[in-house]
Amino acid sequence: MNPKPIQNADPLQSWLESFRPYLDVFLDAYCILDSTGRIIEFNLAFSELVGESHRRIHKVGNLSALLKTRGETELTEVILKSSRPVRLDEVLASSKSYPELTIILGSVPIIDASGQFCGALVTIRNVTAEHALLMKYEERKKEAVFDGLTKLLNKLKSEEEISKSIKIASREKKPFSVVMGDIDHFKRVNDTYGHQAGDYVLKLVSSIIKNVMRETDIAGRFGGEEFVILLKNCPENGALIFSERLRKSIESTLFIFEGKRIPITISQGTATIHPVWEEGMDPEQMAQNLIKQADSALYEAKNQGRNRVISFQKKPA
Ligand code: GH3
Ligand code: MG
Ligand code: MG
Repeated sequence: MNPKPIQNADPLQSWLESFRPYLDVFLDAYCILDSTGRIIEFNLAFSELVGESHRRIHKVGNLSALLKTRGETELTEVILKSSRPVRLDEVLASSKSYPELTIILGSVPIIDASGQFCGALVTIRNVTAEHALLMKYEERKKEAVFDGLTKLLNKLKSEEEISKSIKIASREKKPFSVVMGDIDHFKRVNDTYGHQAGDYVLKLVSSIIKNVMRETDIAGRFGGEEFVILLKNCPENGALIFSERLRKSIESTLFIFEGKRIPITISQGTATIHPVWEEGMDPEQMAQNLIKQADSALYEAKNQGRNRVISFQKKPA
């Protein structure tokens, strides 16, 4: 609808008459404001949205009072101030019938023959359900990537990242290391101090890992109390140095839950690839091999008494 200039003694009424057939087929809520911002006309969808009767809407007359926005936006003011069409997306609001609403609001100024602003047509769409669905979708997307408890990458995403890192390492002809860590006697922690204490330990271990690693490295939760750390551009020796630093850091951290100190240590296995030597292999296959190697080094670390680091390459044949 084009806000065409109107020639009539009451330009707003004249506008209404000429546009009535269009307004009648509006599915969204709409209202018409006069030049002072007073509601002079609206449809059933509008009265349903604001949760007030026809009589009451006319009595209140003020859009901002019927549809309260959270935050700074004062609807009537925004509409009256603008000499151009306005569109406000994803506005959080509340009305008598909806304590929590997400709306999209559009308004078009109505201009008379002399170019004077004489009112505005305001349309309001309730997008609360769509917005909630979108938020849920975003949440699911996050869940598909991150582990809920530790906020580290989940297993699937960690494996994907390993393959990706291998491709990059191949292209750049740089070494790449993977560290598998597993908390020692974690079952005992749960059994002795309770499951919540176990969860606390998992979260703290995760934040220690994040503190010890470089910003460009990636950490994931691979299973219950098993972690994987991806060290880019890192040869065997670098992986050993990193893992030893992590081991010491965890060993020396005071894990205190509900006033009780919980002794925590971690065993780790490291494995490294040198893409220059391993050219021609499928990155996904290389990723699985690397994980297996780090896992078998971890197994060895457990066998040798736990709280230690074993590098796959240094493992006796
Ligand atoms: P090891 O030194 O050989 O690794 O012994 P462990 O006890 O750590 O290993 P085991 O695999 O026997 O036990 C792992 C425990 O991890 C068992 C399970 O109850 C616990 N676990 C797994 N996921 C979670 C979790 O999300 N929260 C808590 N609190 N415990 C978990
Ligand atoms: Mg364990
Ligand atoms: Mg385990």
